Amino acid sequence: MSVAKCKECGGDVSSKAAVCPHCGLLDPALTTKKSNPVAKVSILTRSRDLAGLLFYSSVLWLFFSTHAGGEDAFFVAWEKVNWLIGICAAWYIGAEIYRIIIERKRK
Ligand SMILES: [Zn+2]
Repeated sequence: MSVAKCKECGGDVSSKAAVCPHCGLLDPALTTKKSNPVAKVSILTRSRDLAGLLFYSSVLWLFFSTHAGGEDAFFVAWEKVNWLIGICAAWYIGAEIYRIIIERKRK
């Protein structure tokens, strides 16, 4: 027997529990992590933070390599890192929008 999350309130329940002790929902334990909005939101938040971190790292890297190099150092560095910045920005925005949609659905 393990601890699961209630699919209604997100509280801890036994995976075999018939009723949620927090909100009274019948059969509250989630069988798959994917269908759990609480787990989904936490995965999306972590994913968004990772994208943000990568985004700022590549922008910082771009800034410092431009600073250290000469006139066209920016363009050389930009060529290397622009795809990463683009992907991270899209990833960040996508994860954030998806998270907001899930949070709205729960209310
Ligand atoms: Zn509950």
